[in-house]
Amino acid sequence: MATSCEKMKKIQGHPCFGGNHHKNGRMHLAVAPKCNIKCGYCTRRHDCANESRPGVTSRLLSPEEAIVRVREVMASPVTGPIIKVIGIAGPGDPLFNDETFETFQLVDREFPDLIKCMSTNGLLLPDKMPILKALGLHSLTVTLNTLDPVIGGKIYSYVHYRGTTYSGSEAGEILVCNQLEGIRQAAELGMTIKVNTVLIPGVNDAQIPLISQKVKELGAFVMNIMPLIPQADFAHIEPPSAERLDALRRDNEKTIGQFKHCKQCRADAVGLIGENLQLAVARAE
Ligand code: SF4
Ligand code: SF4
Ligand code: SF4
Repeated sequence: MATSCEKMKKIQGHPCFGGNHHKNGRMHLAVAPKCNIKCGYCTRRHDCANESRPGVTSRLLSPEEAIVRVREVMASPVTGPIIKVIGIAGPGDPLFNDETFETFQLVDREFPDLIKCMSTNGLLLPDKMPILKALGLHSLTVTLNTLDPVIGGKIYSYVHYRGTTYSGSEAGEILVCNQLEGIRQAAELGMTIKVNTVLIPGVNDAQIPLISQKVKELGAFVMNIMPLIPQADFAHIEPPSAERLDALRRDNEKTIGQFKHCKQCRADAVGLIGENLQLAVARAE
């Protein structure tokens, strides 16, 4: 595991963890199609809504196609010098797809200096932690929307875990337990952790300060409160205003650092935050 100095140096290169946002970029590899839970705000027609801009679906890549893509991007004079992070964030849950681990292995073999980053719903974190440790995963994002299993039952219509499908507060309990245990273990291993929380007005508002307190205690580095995008089961809910979001971030900043510049990029994004350099790569080739 990295020393604290090495860790700090890596964080400084990661745009999603406050590293120079206008200089460093990330490349997402859409290698993970399946998901093991159903969030009420997810339509499944797009990339994982927990870490992606909705409305765009990535073309799924196999691990072999993904490494070819990484080689192209790293060889390009436009993107090569910018890309510091390889992220796997969907389109489903990375931990529920073996392709995620294969892809990270391929990337690590050829590009050991690239930061390996993953975003997950957290259900399989305790089960997969030994693989993540062996892979040397540097940064981890977990989407944690509540600490309360009953509220979890309202947010997730089902949770599929170790061959059984659960619903209601039972589903909420398994998910929340695994998310918290996963964050604890990841922090213990020295990973840098971001917690995404989707603010669902009328559903999990009161949970936000409790989540920020809990994840800080467990060792998370930063929190990203994201506005609900009303769709699927939550299509009828009014999204939070920008003012409400700002106020909430301000209130919780005292507990844990708040990430404010997220533009919810798509799962196959390449480049600087809010930008997609795929066209630029294509032009440079
Ligand atoms: Fe959709 Fe992501 Fe939730 Fe799975 S974890 S249901 S892909 S938003
Ligand atoms: Fe950023 Fe999340 Fe992608 Fe990692 S997985 S590079 S934190 S958006
Ligand atoms: Fe991920 Fe948001 Fe950063 Fe885009 S702006 S890379 S979605 S954390």
